[in-house]
Amino acid sequence: MKTFTARAHGRVNLIGEHTDYNGGWVLPTTIPQFTEVTLTIEDSRSSADSSVTLTTSKERKGQYRLGHEQKTGTWIDYLQGATKLLRDSGLELGAFSAKIHSTVPEGSGLSSSAALEISFLKALREAFNLPLEDVELARIGQRIENEFVGARVGIMDQMACSLATAGEALFLDTQSLTYESITIPRMHCDLLVINSGLAHQNSGGDYNTRRAECEAACKELRIHSLRELSEKDLPQLDQLPETLKRRARHVLTENARVFRTVQALKEHDLSTVGRLFKESHASMRDDYAVSIPEIDQLVEITAKQKGVFGARLTGGGFGGSIVALTEKNLAQSISEDVCKAYREKTGHSATVLVAR
Ligand code: ADP
Ligand code: MG
Repeated sequence: MKTFTARAHGRVNLIGEHTDYNGGWVLPTTIPQFTEVTLTIEDSRSSADSSVTLTTSKERKGQYRLGHEQKTGTWIDYLQGATKLLRDSGLELGAFSAKIHSTVPEGSGLSSSAALEISFLKALREAFNLPLEDVELARIGQRIENEFVGARVGIMDQMACSLATAGEALFLDTQSLTYESITIPRMHCDLLVINSGLAHQNSGGDYNTRRAECEAACKELRIHSLRELSEKDLPQLDQLPETLKRRARHVLTENARVFRTVQALKEHDLSTVGRLFKESHASMRDDYAVSIPEIDQLVEITAKQKGVFGARLTGGGFGGSIVALTEKNLAQSISEDVCKAYREKTGHSATVLVAR
């Protein structure tokens, strides 16, 4: 019997939301929460055996046969998609069982799905000696969601879960996949991540609708991707119907905010980063319409605490988590006050995931 263990951390996106499937720029970093996959291959198994057995820490169980992967609309699809795509590309896998343990909250905008895909792919790479680089794993992870799960996500989450390192943000160009590590100036600030307690699902309709709206905007503007336009092109959006104009405006201004955030982080100008967080949230709420009232409340409560530079919804939206930047050593006490006020206002329980 041989066992192989691999891990992938969840991620929090500092800024650059809904820009990845528009060929734009993003700035995610890892969170301490992770997903760990332990693969076991029994020596006694014959080469004809193609069974896969799955168990998760939440007592979920699954089983299927390699070569017989079939969409179920459940969590098993993230794993079936992986083995299907690997085998379709000509790589050889054998029977195995996998135990999955995760501390990343699901559907909270912190990329439990990519952490699952990437940790599973890394464990498979080790167990079956697959010749795959980390960027290739990210591409396969995105294809699992696009082609098998039915979530038309971009590549940010998989790139972050596969490549990002703690304490650094991954400034990624999602078209060329070139990236630069940006140091978060931890000696001057704390990062705060709070889960609103309201989960979303990317394979649901709203996320895919936003993507379709961006495609419709491109068609009207006769371009391939919104990446081709920058802030100076904003007047061009006037020719679009109002909804498409708002969606495109978010993407153009959000791309610009990613560049400004990177510059401000390099200069340790945290007030500017905070202002950009606030602008990003307003744009997601008003132009892109991916926030919900409870998240707006959570952001508002957080942003008005003393010592907070700025706060915003992070991840795909329609629920999920917020990210905030605070003065050094204040995140913990601020988070306690925020959770209390949020419960009083909305009746929901928020959980603090990062306060450092
Ligand atoms: P997010 O990636 O923001 O957490 P998604 O909707 O993209 O949200 O992915 C959440 C889904 O991923 C869950 O509903 C579940 O199907 C699957 N998933 C994530 N982590 C695990 C896990 N540890 N075990 C089983 N399924 C998981
Ligand atoms: Mg996801």
